[in-house]
Amino acid sequence: MIEFDDRLRAVRDDCREAAEDLRPRALSIDADPDAMEEHFDSPVYTMIRQSNTPVEFRESVLGGSLKLMDSKSVLEDIVGMVELARGDMSTMFACPCPALAGVFVRMLGNPEQQERFYTKLHGGRTWTFFAMTEPDHGNDATAMQTRFDKDGSGGWLLNGAKRYIGHGARGGIGLVFGRTGRSALSIRAALVEVGPAQGWQSTRLNMVGLRGAYLSELSFENVPVSADMLLGEHLPVTRRGVWGAIKTFNNMRIQISAAAVGTAIAMAEYVAEHRKNAPGVDLAVARAEAARELIYEAAARLDRDPERGYLSSAAKLGATRMAVQTAHWAAASIGPAGLLEHPLLEKWTRDVRAFEFMDGTTNIQRLHVARGYQSGDADV
Ligand SMILES: Cc1cc2nc3c(=O)[nH]c(=O)nc-3n(C[C@H](O)[C@H](O)[C@H](O)COP(=O)(O)OP(=O)(O)OC[C@H]3O[C@@H](n4cnc5c(N)ncnc54)[C@H](O)[C@@H]3O)c2cc1C
Repeated sequence: MIEFDDRLRAVRDDCREAAEDLRPRALSIDADPDAMEEHFDSPVYTMIRQSNTPVEFRESVLGGSLKLMDSKSVLEDIVGMVELARGDMSTMFACPCPALAGVFVRMLGNPEQQERFYTKLHGGRTWTFFAMTEPDHGNDATAMQTRFDKDGSGGWLLNGAKRYIGHGARGGIGLVFGRTGRSALSIRAALVEVGPAQGWQSTRLNMVGLRGAYLSELSFENVPVSADMLLGEHLPVTRRGVWGAIKTFNNMRIQISAAAVGTAIAMAEYVAEHRKNAPGVDLAVARAEAARELIYEAAARLDRDPERGYLSSAAKLGATRMAVQTAHWAAASIGPAGLLEHPLLEKWTRDVRAFEFMDGTTNIQRLHVARGYQSGDADV
């Protein structure tokens, strides 16, 4: 069991306070994910955006009243994420901030690319996107077909299609993954600033749950990408593209687990508050807390060895399954017509299903766990 020191306690308490500004926004963003004006300058969005921005690119006027999170470890990230998700995860996803694209730009981008990316986000009205999944290639990203074709004068032409891309249809800047050749090492990411370029098409998908994520479909036909926008040119070949980013996926997987756990705790607490004698409350809370302990443990292991992802897969398997079970229990416990009377709970029962698909579905996590056992990682 992870013992909390003063720093972890402070992260937990600060994020718990921030979550109180997330939750009241949840139903309006779910009802209309396009109506964002009233949320842009909220304390919690300012805090999330600035906390996700490296110190050298932060805006000088912060304007928020909440404490920034200057996380020093995966464990701190995860402790904070559970608390924020307890507020509302879909509202978190709806925030214009660096998000996953930022993690990649930080890891693979050169100083000019980093500056371009982060300064574009100043003001808190620009969403980012991370376009990897394709209509026919989800879990198996190495089979992607989007291409960077040579344009004959040193640059590239982007061709292909992406699907299920968060904020794809409204993002101002982000990453698109594609291949410059046949091998897996040729898969690269380009920083793309969305302008009036011909050949770039995007449509928002109508989602049932987690509507703040604003999933979208993109297609590209000969979209020009200048040579200096490909990330990782300054890095060794094996570190430039998707293979250089494995540790990021281990990290993201556990973030999604934290989102599932935080949502499950929120549902259990909600039922406990509104149905005092509902059977199974203690069990629902205990299950969520057990899943939380496992993700804390997996986060601490990633801090020790960022490339060993076995435990984060096991944690995601447990967390997403537990969260869906909690949603079934919560819907039954709130009673007949209860979900109509409790729209926030109803929303969470929809949101919670999305977590399984993000950063590797259940089957893929099972494969990771099995490989962990085979390779001996599971014992470390
Ligand atoms: C809320 C949300 C946000 C997302 N945001 C983004 C984003 O911003 N950017 C992005 O690029 N993508 C994003 N995605 C897409 C997500 O990464 C994909 O949904 C995921 O990779 C799964 O891909 P797929 O849906 O195409 O399923 P597939 O990979 O086609 O899988 C379909 C089914 O087959 C199973 N399966 C696949 N391969 C195997 C195998 N080898 N063995 C056994 N079973 C297998 C899977 O478990 C699944 O049940 C998002 C998805 C969601 C739900």
